[in-house]
Amino acid sequence: MKGVGPRLAQIFLQRGVVTVEDALYTLPRRYEDRRHFTRIAQAQIGTHQSLLGEVLLLGTRPIAGGRRHLFELVVGDGSGTLSCKWFQFHPRTMMARFRRGQRLILYGEVRAYGGSREMIHPEVELAEEEGEGSEPLHFRRIVPVYTLPEGLYQRQLRRIMKHAVDEYAAGALEGLPAAVRTQHVLPDLADSLRDVHFPPEDADVEALNREGSPAHRRLIFDEFFFLELGLALRRQGVQEEPGIAFRPTGRLTDRLLGGLPFALTNAQARVLEEIRRDMEAPRPMNRLLQGDVGSGKTLVAVLASLMAVESGYQAALMAPTEILAEQHYRTVHQLVAPLGVRVALLTSALTPAQRERLHRHVAQGLYEIVVGTHALIQEPLAFARLGLAVIDEQHRFGVLQRAALRAKGAHPDILVMTATPIPRTLALTVYGDLDLAVIDGMPPGRQPIRTRVVPAEHRALIERLVAGEVQAGRQAYVVYPLVEESEKAAELRDATRMAEELQQRLAAHETLRSLPRPCRVGLVHGRLSGEEKDRVMAEFREGRVDVLVATTVIEVGIDVANATLMVVEHAERFGLSQLHQLRGRVGRGSHPSQCVLVAPRAQSEEVRRRLQAMARTADGFQIAEEDLALRGPGEFLGTRQSGLPDFRVGNLLRDGSLLAQAREAAFALVREDPRLRGEPATRMVLRRRWQGRLELVGIG
Ligand code: ADP
Ligand code: MG
Repeated sequence: MKGVGPRLAQIFLQRGVVTVEDALYTLPRRYEDRRHFTRIAQAQIGTHQSLLGEVLLLGTRPIAGGRRHLFELVVGDGSGTLSCKWFQFHPRTMMARFRRGQRLILYGEVRAYGGSREMIHPEVELAEEEGEGSEPLHFRRIVPVYTLPEGLYQRQLRRIMKHAVDEYAAGALEGLPAAVRTQHVLPDLADSLRDVHFPPEDADVEALNREGSPAHRRLIFDEFFFLELGLALRRQGVQEEPGIAFRPTGRLTDRLLGGLPFALTNAQARVLEEIRRDMEAPRPMNRLLQGDVGSGKTLVAVLASLMAVESGYQAALMAPTEILAEQHYRTVHQLVAPLGVRVALLTSALTPAQRERLHRHVAQGLYEIVVGTHALIQEPLAFARLGLAVIDEQHRFGVLQRAALRAKGAHPDILVMTATPIPRTLALTVYGDLDLAVIDGMPPGRQPIRTRVVPAEHRALIERLVAGEVQAGRQAYVVYPLVEESEKAAELRDATRMAEELQQRLAAHETLRSLPRPCRVGLVHGRLSGEEKDRVMAEFREGRVDVLVATTVIEVGIDVANATLMVVEHAERFGLSQLHQLRGRVGRGSHPSQCVLVAPRAQSEEVRRRLQAMARTADGFQIAEEDLALRGPGEFLGTRQSGLPDFRVGNLLRDGSLLAQAREAAFALVREDPRLRGEPATRMVLRRRWQGRLELVGIG
């Protein structure tokens, strides 16, 4: 590109800007209104302004008793003067850069200083007049300000961008169908790229600065549209594949339901009906099952698995951790073994011989349900007749893993369960190719969980609460974030030591003197062998251990109705969704439960907000929204593996409604024109987008 030699190309490269298109999508960081400059004397204190003035004085002077120096420029515009100060500077550079009589544009916060005005570390641009006749670039217009790579000046970058826009914007391939643009009142692509860099004379600066100008909206819509279009096509592709038309007879499900001590909730029954309809249809199911902790997703998954088994197929249930896989196995086994259904557990703990045997039996169809971890897709495990794959994922499996599991059978049905509800915007992007089913009610008789934040300094209060529950015949969890004092978190209480300490204190606690047997504290952590872990968990389940001290291994899965107190130590170290999961371990029976979040008194603002959110609401969906807002989409989902695409312009937190509109438009288009025959340009742009930046999502 004109004006970009090897040195600049290198600088751009370091920013990931390789092509002209990359450059065009490197949007201004902000916009300055230089159509008219505010007079210095009128500049309002406390606001950000760009001011134009002439250098009257400049120089270095000592401060702090001569130990440090500041560099000062005094500029004037006839109405008054402005003092610009730098506390960090290179004396020689500054003296070489500025001279008296120079005209400068200064941007920064205007502050009061004595009777006059000052700016600290302002952004500075030389205000040299541009050549007569040329279109104004740095002046007399709304001016883009970019994030500057090292070694570049604003004016230089602006010139390069102007050239890129003038020369190449018109050549950008318009991919949005005309009808969509008309319906959503979106400018065309070339105009949008031009306006987003060099806004028209009459543009709204405030809208530009919040990336809400028509040009911005168009580019954001575009980005979302092509993501959703890819998802829509993939979903359609899956639907067009031949799938299994299951013929559930009710032989097993009816018996299971008849033997339960409770009836399905309305929400469970509705969701199960949706799943049944999907399974009976001759195309593969691809469904996301959302429901809060404790809403009874596992039972729904087991019933779906039995529908597959009744129809002569196998079902696989994949869990994110070994502990959860074991827990699921136990639950599933307990429910279906009496019906004569054979269940296998595949984890990395198996010996080679056991594994080989298990593989063989799965391949022969002897096992009808296989529960496991990632091992299910990593190992060369072949199913005789895999019909349904249930993925309990907790944000850990992306689209690619789903595809790998699907490949284990001839177009099996897929049911993804999320243990933590996912905010709508994320569900529409990461899981946008799935149909949604939501369990939006809880089993009856659940008691609300009282949640409070207790300062870590209040040890005695915490012990009293634990003792109180034990005395009433209930059980308690005490969770620590880590098991041993590693160098990473030396200040963390060692769970092992705390378990012993708690044991001693409770043994001596006055409330517990009258117990027929001494209070027992158990400990589980990640370093225990599987057997040891199982033993402690079993003792807790059977009520022989009253207090379970644990690292986060109990985060998922464990289900003890008699446990009514959850104490989370170092609650400040856990994310919101994690805390919500932990809290979900209590409140499962008919007794009132409580959750105590222990954290040092002094907290950052973010931690305080997190803990307060926990105390305020028990609704997993609300918590998820809050968590997303606090941590941002990337962190919320854990890793980039999650399949969340990188948006260049769009922002999921801010642009939720545009996302919904773009999704609707994309899905409508695919419904009307499933091959996009009428929109060759759309097809071309789609192909390019999905092969480039969106490849993480994988194109089916
Ligand atoms: P989730 O997996 O959604 O967190 P679980 O499947 O672990 O929830 O269910 C929590 C508890 O509720 C389990 O003990 C389960 O047996 C019980 N449960 C499930 N469905 C019902 C129901 N309809 N009525 C009463 N209890 C139920
Ligand atoms: Mg569960």
